[in-house]
Amino acid sequence: MAQILTLNAGSSSIKFALFDANTLDEPVRGQVEGLGTHPRLSARTANGEETDKNLEDGTVGDHASALKAILALIEASLSDVHIEAVGHRVVHGGLDYAAPVVIDAERLADLETLIPLAPLHQPYNLSGIRAAEAAFPDSMQVACFDTAFHRHHPWVNDTYALPPKFYDEGIRRYGFHGLSYEYVIQTLQQIAPTHAAGRVVVSHLGNGASMCAIQGGQSVGSTMGFTALDGLPMGTRCGQLDPGVVLYLMMEKGLSASEIETLLYTDSGLKGLSGLSNDMRELEAAGTPQARRAIDYFVFRIRRELGAMAAILAGLDALVFCGGIGENAWRIRECVCQNFGWLGLELDETLNRAGETIVSSRRSRVRVFIIRTNEELMIARHTAAKREAAGHSIVVA
Ligand code: AMP
Repeated sequence: MAQILTLNAGSSSIKFALFDANTLDEPVRGQVEGLGTHPRLSARTANGEETDKNLEDGTVGDHASALKAILALIEASLSDVHIEAVGHRVVHGGLDYAAPVVIDAERLADLETLIPLAPLHQPYNLSGIRAAEAAFPDSMQVACFDTAFHRHHPWVNDTYALPPKFYDEGIRRYGFHGLSYEYVIQTLQQIAPTHAAGRVVVSHLGNGASMCAIQGGQSVGSTMGFTALDGLPMGTRCGQLDPGVVLYLMMEKGLSASEIETLLYTDSGLKGLSGLSNDMRELEAAGTPQARRAIDYFVFRIRRELGAMAAILAGLDALVFCGGIGENAWRIRECVCQNFGWLGLELDETLNRAGETIVSSRRSRVRVFIIRTNEELMIARHTAAKREAAGHSIVVA
């Protein structure tokens, strides 16, 4: 039996999923979290059991050792393990990578030059690739980029109003969460092909959050820009911010670049506004004035971007919610969709509270969907396609 392993390596975690290379059935999925502090391995294994293992015996400290623990779990769970290809989530593909690529030494070096564009993600994504190369020297390594889905934005949505030399150097609106958007639009093509071919806004609302305007299946706009900091407020990231604030903090308040980085990436967003938590469930449960204000701002920015995206698309046929908040938080969906009757958008309260796939009312012109995103399956599909191109026969589900 041949398998495809997908890896999403972050600063202190590796998320993984194992797929049958021929059917793309997924027998094992899990993650190592707490790398560098209190490592744990949790997973759903082949027989459907949940496992949660403390890895604090000192042997697991980096991506390479975490991958060994993952492999040991996979081998204990399946009798016949032969990982032929490993698909990696890579946050930034820069100007050149508009599609997944098979990794070789030259490409890995090329992707390293993009680290300054995504300093909090890219180095760890690449160290995941190096760890997988060492663990599976005979397997194909495939990099799948979060920016790729957005690489064909029209120029007005790709540029900032800076002198063109900066655009030429790569200071552009890249957009992220592309693997999620690609999966969602492929799913929408299956369940509602007419809507998928029209004007669609997808709201990926998780700990990271962004929205994407899609026309005819192609991304034409994203709330995220040069980095994954722009747009919606997130768990700990600030979202849209006047660049003058950064100048003021530096020049008048004397904050260093790294202090500002920490403020904007890890101390802002829902956590910063509420002073309580980055976790939407905790904020909803807390019900304090600060928690409510954080939620109000989150909803307000989503509504504002939805209006802007409907304007760019010259109307709207479908709105899709995905991500941990988008898929599970019915109150947030309800608040986001309130008073959008002028756009022809109306939720069905009961369907929305029940978390059905279609949650708009019968008379809503805009159809509203909840689609559970699956970035791992998207990476597996891309990796399977590369494996097939390399000469292996494959039946992709
Ligand atoms: P993700 O990054 O996609 O895993 O999403 C994480 C976010 O989803 C966190 O803010 C969670 O609190 C939120 N979330 C997950 N389940 C629920 C739920 N049932 N109600 C509200 N928020 C939820």
